[in-house]
Amino acid sequence: MANGTDVAIDGKVLRLTNLDKILYPEASFTKAEVIDYYRRIAPAMLPHIADRCPTLVRAPDGVNGEVFFEKRCPSHHPDWVATGQANGVQGACVIDSLAALVWTANLAALELHVQQTPRNALATPTAMVFDLDPGDGATIIDCRRVALQLRAWLEQLGVTAFVKTSGSKGLHLSVPISDPQATHETTKRFALSMGQLLEQRDPAVTTNMAKDQRAGKVFIDWSQNDRHKTTVAPYSLRIRAYPTVSTPLTWAELEHATTPEDLRFVAGEVLERVDHLGDLWADALTLLQQLPELG
Ligand code: ATP
Ligand code: MN
Repeated sequence: MANGTDVAIDGKVLRLTNLDKILYPEASFTKAEVIDYYRRIAPAMLPHIADRCPTLVRAPDGVNGEVFFEKRCPSHHPDWVATGQANGVQGACVIDSLAALVWTANLAALELHVQQTPRNALATPTAMVFDLDPGDGATIIDCRRVALQLRAWLEQLGVTAFVKTSGSKGLHLSVPISDPQATHETTKRFALSMGQLLEQRDPAVTTNMAKDQRAGKVFIDWSQNDRHKTTVAPYSLRIRAYPTVSTPLTWAELEHATTPEDLRFVAGEVLERVDHLGDLWADALTLLQQLPELG
């Protein structure tokens, strides 16, 4: 196969390069397959990232090579890739079209991470997040119990939460909020309070940032609600041995999961899920809800 291939997407011409290069050696998953994944997942993924400027995590030599976080849009970006402010920098890429997403895939930007705030309202979070990290000896199945408890409490408070795998080790919970008064301080404080409530009842849960306090426990990372923090976007690939994806889940499938394998999805499986289930996070985009008062 030729090394460079020109494609036209919605009138924009892109040169795709190194298509045969294997980026995930254990899975023999090539750059062409990465690009094809992002092309096909775009309808589900784009609405979740289009109004914010993702940080690109690039692995041009594959998952075992050098990995770099890129907040600023590469200077050679096409003129049809707009830029905006995010993640503390001016000139971050706006990824709001199929062509732009295929362009970042061609840069081997395997992961895209976003803030909880849109680029035109960087002080106003549109979600509160809980990043559930299993410490040494714990697994995503331990995170599952924590997620289900947090969800139950949130439901009692009248708010809907959404859940996805991180595509790596843990789970991410997201509570959409639509409130011009919301701030990073309020979402962070709320997440910490709920985490502490759970920590008091469950010795296998910690809200302590210190890594040596986490063995065998689930760390509820409430600090992901901070101003410049990012979280991997729904449907992003991860830089792991296999092309696993940060995968939106139903609460029912989380309840029924018994092994980590039940909660591990690679690119092809995620495309099939979206074909059958649609975007399980679609309602997060339109739900109008506010954080309740914490009693
Ligand atoms: P896991 O399930 O393994 O925890 P994760 O995506 O939740 O996967 P964390 O280590 O919990 O990963 O990190 C949370 C988030 O912090 C990441 O998704 C990423 O957006 C951000 N982050 C981590 N490391 C860096 C870094 N070096 N530079 C910028 N942001 C980072
Ligand atoms: Mn995490």
